[in-house]
Formats: sequence, structure tokens, C-alpha cells
Amino acid sequence: MKKTIFFVFVFPLFCSLQAQVQVKPFPEEGFEMRIRNYINNMHIVDTHEHLVSPNGIKKSSMLDFTLLLHHYADDDIKSAGMAKADFEELLSGSLTVMEKWQAVKPFWEASFNTAYNRAVELTIDQLFGIKTLNESTVEELSARIREAYNTDWFYTVLKQKSKIDYVVVDSNNHSFGDTGMISYVKRFDYINIDSEIKIRNIENRLKTKINSLDEMEASLKKEFQAAVNEGNVAVKIGVAYSRTLFFEEVEKETAEAVFQNLRNSEETDVYSFEEVKPLQDYMTYRLIELAGEAGLPIQIHTGLQAGDGNLIENSNPTHLANLFLKYRDVNFILFHGGYPFGSELATLAKNFRNVAIDMCWLYIISPSYAERYLHEWLETIPANKIMAFGGDFHNVEGVYGHQLFARQVVANVLTEKVRDGYFTETEALRIAQMILYDNAVSILKLSN
Ligand SMILES: [Zn+2]
Repeated sequence: MKKTIFFVFVFPLFCSLQAQVQVKPFPEEGFEMRIRNYINNMHIVDTHEHLVSPNGIKKSSMLDFTLLLHHYADDDIKSAGMAKADFEELLSGSLTVMEKWQAVKPFWEASFNTAYNRAVELTIDQLFGIKTLNESTVEELSARIREAYNTDWFYTVLKQKSKIDYVVVDSNNHSFGDTGMISYVKRFDYINIDSEIKIRNIENRLKTKINSLDEMEASLKKEFQAAVNEGNVAVKIGVAYSRTLFFEEVEKETAEAVFQNLRNSEETDVYSFEEVKPLQDYMTYRLIELAGEAGLPIQIHTGLQAGDGNLIENSNPTHLANLFLKYRDVNFILFHGGYPFGSELATLAKNFRNVAIDMCWLYIISPSYAERYLHEWLETIPANKIMAFGGDFHNVEGVYGHQLFARQVVANVLTEKVRDGYFTETEALRIAQMILYDNAVSILKLSN
């Protein structure tokens, strides 16, 4: 009986603690520290941010500790029970720092465990020298934040403290200066038209009339060319917040019929997703073709959507396979490690030469998921198709905390892979350089 227990329970456990597969000789002593130091000190590329202007932050009512709760801690604070309206009250400008803390405190204390919120704790410690967020520190922290914003804080945090050489920003605000460092990606609202108003928005923007599908395609083409001329480095598709990522091939007549329905409708008419989907799908195919002609990669939001009330099944990356098959020469970049579809993501990036993965946002969603899947992706996906850092933040403080998480996780994974004899130490450092720097430069064609 005892023997059975040993073989059924203890023996497999013992085996799982051993190296997985050994390919290379075991490393020389001290490799853990050498890998960690290399990764902590290396310069990196940041493939995805939503940064807002530091001048805007300076003028806003969140130039205090609440700045650090914006994006994404606020999602978990609300998930822990704080009413959305109560959180928004913090931004009204009518509360003192202590009143803001009192309002947030029960929900912060209920959610301090999540990685979003752990990242805040790490950031206040490393950037502002404050050990923890509580009633005795919020005022001092707020004072230090205000002080920081009187300096060239934005670039100090990105360049010196985070050691980031390039940042790719997903925003309509192109006023960040330093064009050698900052690049932009472009979203196109043609792919989520669901009402007459949205057609009119495009008309107003372009000061033109759009009375047919042909005219709408011509407008898309014009705006796409302008985006190329402005130097955008990729197209961004973020529609998984509001619809499925399954885009079907649609006959032009079918899309035209939907367009005409919308065009001739009243402002108050509401269409179901099923009714507008053929037009959205048709325009998405046209957008992908334009990206293909211009040689621009397409970044696609897959997996978890920020905030509440979103449907995770919409954003399963496997919905996209028909596009990868049809557009073999277009490069698709799947975002956020597809959380929680990590293995599905691996199969897509492994099987389609035109699919790469991007781990932006991932380490603060779940560092253990990022670690688990980076292990798996390094075993399944060619290393030149993994981009391992994007902060995905509004503010640079968030970017800073996030890159600290990313460096730790990448170092953990590579250290384990070297300890197991899967990689040599030299190979591990080469991988770090590829996934944290070279791949993004090459796939997004970044240069200054
Ligand atoms: Zn994003």
C-alpha cells in the first residue's frame, strides 16, 4: 500500500521537480546572478503604450497618489466593489488627498493582492521611496508626485529609469516630441461602423460626402495613405472590446446593402451587431489589404479586455485563423499573450509564419501566467516572433513598474531554462536581447 502511494503520488512529484529535458551542459556557477544583471541592465523596446501628455496630467485633478491608480488599479478597485461613480468623484477636483484616500481605502485594502495593485506598490517604492500606500503615506507620496512633474519627468522615467530606447504609442495625440524615440500606430473606425452617425463622423473629418461603399473605401484609402505618410508603424485593431474577432469574407453587394441601410437611417435607429457585421467585416478585409500593400504589420487586441462587462469569448485569437490563411503576406501581431488563451496563441504563432505574439500588458495581468507561457512559447514559437514588453499604460509611472515586472519574469524563465540545460547561458542572453529589443525593432521597423 505504502509503495503504491509512493509511485502514484510521490514519484511523479519528485520527477516534476527535475529538469524537463536537458539539451546543453549545466551552467557554470553564478549564472543566475549574471542573467538577472544582464536583463536588469539592458535597454529594451516598449511596443505598446497609451501615454497621455504630461502637461495634461499636470493640469488634471489626478496629480496626486490617484494618478498611480489610473489604469489599471482602478479596475480592480471597482471589481472589489467601489462604485464607478464614486471612483469618478475622485477626479472631480472637489476632494482633498486624504478624502480621496478615505474613499478608496476599503477597496484598496480588499484588492491590494492583485498584480495591478502590487505593481503600484513596487512603483511607489522604487520611483518615490514610499514603502506602502496608506493614510500615513498618501500625502507625502502626492507631494513627491507633484514635485516630479516640475521636472522632465516623462522622459526621465522612460529613458533613464526604465532604459527604454523606443516606445510605440497607440493614441491620437502625436505631441510627445522626440520622434527618434516615439512611434505611433493608427486605428481606423471604418471597421466598427454600426450607425449613420459613424458614417457622418468620417464625412465630417474628411469634409466629403460618402454615399456609397465605393466612396467609403476611397475614404479609407485616403486616410490610410495619410497614416503611412505620417510614419505610423502599424495598424491597430482593438475591436475585441465590442465584437467577436471572427471576420467573415463578405460579398461587396451584401456590404453595400448594409451601408445603404445605415446611410438612409435616422439618427436614432439602432442596429444589431448581426445586421452591421457584414459591413464591418468587409471593411476589415479592405483595411488588411491596405496594410499588406504598405507593408505595415497589424496589431490585434486578443484576450482579456480591461474593465467590466466584456465577453472573453469574443477575443479568442483562434477566431482570426481565416485571416492568417487568406493574407499570408500580412504580418499579424497578437497582443496581451492572448490571456487566457496562451496555448491557442502558441499554436497560431507556431503554425502561421505571418503571426507574432506581443506580451504587452501581460505581466501586470498575471506574472505567473506570463512566466508559465513564456516557458511554453520559448519551446514552441521561433524566438524572432516573440515581443516581450509593452507597458500599455496612460502614465509613465505605470510603464516603469511594469518593466520591472517584465524584467523579473523574463529573467526567471531564462534562468530556469539554463538551470535545466535547455539553453546555455549565452543562448539565454541572446533570447533576452531578441525578445526585449531586436524583434520589436525589426517587426515594427523602428529606427531613429
Ligand atoms: Zn492597449
